[in-house]
Order: sequence, then structure tokens, then C-alpha cells
Amino acid sequence: MSVLYKSEIDRGRAWQALFADRAPDIGFHLWPEMGDPAAIRYLAAWAPTADIFAALPNLEVLFSIGAGVDQLDLSQVPPSVAVVRMVEAGLTEGMVEYAVFATLALHRRVIDYISDQRQGRWQPARLVPPAQRRVGVMGLGVLGQAVLARLGAFGFPLLGWSRTPHAIAGVDCYAGCEQLPDFLAQCDILICLLPLTPETRGILCRDTFDRLPQGAGLINAGRGGHLIESDLLDALDGGRLAGAVLDVLNSEPPPTTHPFWRHPKILLTPHIASMTTADTGGQALLDNIRRHQAGIPMQGLIRRDLGY
Ligand code: NDP
Repeated sequence: MSVLYKSEIDRGRAWQALFADRAPDIGFHLWPEMGDPAAIRYLAAWAPTADIFAALPNLEVLFSIGAGVDQLDLSQVPPSVAVVRMVEAGLTEGMVEYAVFATLALHRRVIDYISDQRQGRWQPARLVPPAQRRVGVMGLGVLGQAVLARLGAFGFPLLGWSRTPHAIAGVDCYAGCEQLPDFLAQCDILICLLPLTPETRGILCRDTFDRLPQGAGLINAGRGGHLIESDLLDALDGGRLAGAVLDVLNSEPPPTTHPFWRHPKILLTPHIASMTTADTGGQALLDNIRRHQAGIPMQGLIRRDLGY
């Protein structure tokens, strides 16, 4: 019984060493080397193609290397194969760090001050106490909840929005399309940590921006497909929104002519908010394989009908 890994090679080597050390009973192959294809029960990959599934007759679980599964063509994954996204401490901690950085950047007007510095302008603005800056998170999953837990320490009033109702201490929770307007109306800083699905694609659009308080800030660390880029430009240029921190874009990297590169109200990072780490990610994969072997539910098992 073995695992086939098909992704970034350095991480693959680290995971192979981790399995050799902690799970010598499980073979770990780095694609294209796969030993006996019939022995492979687990595939750890980013975006496997149909030919791989055809070559692995006894595959039971596809583990996504990342927290999302939107890069997968689920119609190509045999129905008998369970699909699991990555849930691991290093990935979560990376996102918490990024969300804190981006929230503080907007809260403390860092984008404006970078722009002022470049133009030789010394222009202090009045400080807004955290208690007067409401932060709302779209997506109350593993990442959204971890981010909210850390942001609470700064004293921001917190809100959250999800598909199904949640109760989280210290967070004003909203759910579903009906409650979205009430949620948005109170978000001075809006953080998108949704998975990309047919329902959430394009959710960061003109209608959403129009419902935010005047001068709100946006953070998108979900997926580029959540954002209608032209609507964001209109909202920033028209003064509706004060600034945006974007880690993900529709096209990565964007073309050199893309307006986001030099926009004075946008802070752009190259999809680095968080990454699956070698150590904790490998252990999380191993833990899930052990759960699967023991017949216990795996962490991060997705519902194909929902796409997350
Ligand atoms: P989870 O699956 O744990 O959580 C998803 C959350 O989104 C849930 O709260 C879910 O609601 C909510 N949701 C899903 N669909 C809808 C909808 N239609 N309307 C309202 N809420 C919805 O995911 P994670 O927290 O682990 O990850 C979230 C995303 O973050 C990933 O899918 C990925 O796209 C992105 N990401 C980005 C990274 C980066 O570097 N930029 C790194 C890692 C992840 P409910 O609770 O009701 O099910």
C-alpha cells in the first residue's frame, strides 16, 4: 500500500523522508516513479489529470496539496475516490499572519503612507481606535475562524459570514445570501477567505462594494476568481473603497500592463498568504492516511456537490 506524490519536488522529498521515518509501512513514491501502480491507494497532488487516474486502478483518496480544491477538475476524478483538501497547522498559521498584516495595513493606512512617501508627502491622519474598525470575514472555515481568533486580540469588533449558521464567541455571525447585506453593511474591513465555487465566484463585485460602509477596505486572500477586478477599480477610483490588499488574482502573475501593479490604493502580494509546509503538512497527510486506514473521518474531506 503506497502514496504517489505529484507536486513541487523539494516538498515531496521532505515528505518522502518523513514517511520513511514515521511510517515505514507506507511506500512513498515521487512521480513519475510509482512502483507498482496497483499498490497506490493515495495520491497527493495539486492538479492531477485524467491519465493519472486511469493509471491507478486502486486509488482510494486524492489529497489536494493546497487548502482549496478549485484547481481540480472534479469531473475527472473517479466517483469512488474521496477528495480531501489540506488542513494543517503551518498553512493555518501562515494565513493568520497574513490576515493580521493586511488588516493592520488597512487599519493603519499603510498603503496611503507608502504612496505619500514616494511622493515626498508628510501627511499624518487621525488614528482610528480598533474598537471603531469593524472587521468582517467571509468564510468561517478552518482559516476564517483562526483569523478571527487572532484579530480579536487587537480589539476590533468582529463579524463573520458563512453558508450555514455558526456560533462563535466574540463574533457576530451571519449566514446565507439573505443575511449578506446586513453583514456587509457593518464591515469597515472585509476579508475574503471563501473557497472558490460556482456560488462564490465573482462575489467581490460592485453590489458587494456598494453595501460596505463608505471608505471600507478589502482583503482578498481567497482566490482571484472571487473578485471582479474592474468593479474593484471603479470602487477605488470612485472613492467608495479606501484600499485593497490582494494576494490572489484571476491571472497570476498579471500581465505587465495590468492596472493593479501600480494602483496607489492597492497592495499586491504574489499569492504568498500561506503555503503548505514541509513538516506539518507531511504529518497532516500521514495523520489523514492513518484515519482512513482506521475508518475514522479524514480532516478536510470535501463535499463534491458543494465544491468545497
Ligand atoms: P473551509 O472549507 O474550512 O471553509 C470554507 C468556509 O467558506 C466555510 O465557513 C463555508 O461555510 C464558507 N462558504 C463556502 N461556500 C459559501 C457560500 N456559498 N456562501 C457563504 N459561505 C460559504 O476552507 P478554509 O478555511 O480551509 O480555506 C478557505 C479558502 O482559503 C480556500 O478554499 C482557498 O481558496 C483559500 N486559501 C488561500 C491561500 C492563499 O495563500 N491565498 C492559502 C490557503 C487557502 P460553512 O461553514 O457554512 O460550510
